Amino acid sequence: MNARNCRKCGKLFNYVSGPPICMACREALEAKFQEVKEYIRNNVHATIPEVAEACDVSQTQIQAWLQDERLQLAEGSGITLFCEKCGASINSGRFCEKCKNNMANQLNESIHRPQPVKHEPKKEQRDNPKMRFLG
Ligand SMILES: [Zn+2]
Ligand SMILES: [Zn+2]
Repeated sequence: MNARNCRKCGKLFNYVSGPPICMACREALEAKFQEVKEYIRNNVHATIPEVAEACDVSQTQIQAWLQDERLQLAEGSGITLFCEKCGASINSGRFCEKCKNNMANQLNESIHRPQPVKHEPKKEQRDNPKMRFLG
């Protein structure tokens, strides 16, 4: 048995996996998440501090949900997220679509990078001035 103290309420609980939070706190957090989601849907222009205030959630928690892409922002939302790569404004997650695509492409390229072609002679060998003198 892996007993841990809940990070939220400090109660000892039987830890299984995921964040070290007891079942009660996890359920409370899930309920909070639904509340925040609902609030954002009804108050499209609310900013993160406003949502935090209204739903009694920490701003860090809201940001975490946004970065996990659990929360999606509506068009014209008061909450602004920025792509961590290029700084474009985004609706959820950490990167804009463009950067996500770029990163996916880079990943693909590194996986499917073509093997060096063997029959093509290297430049140094093809045009070696010393060889020419000797010949
Ligand atoms: Zn707890
Ligand atoms: Zn970007």
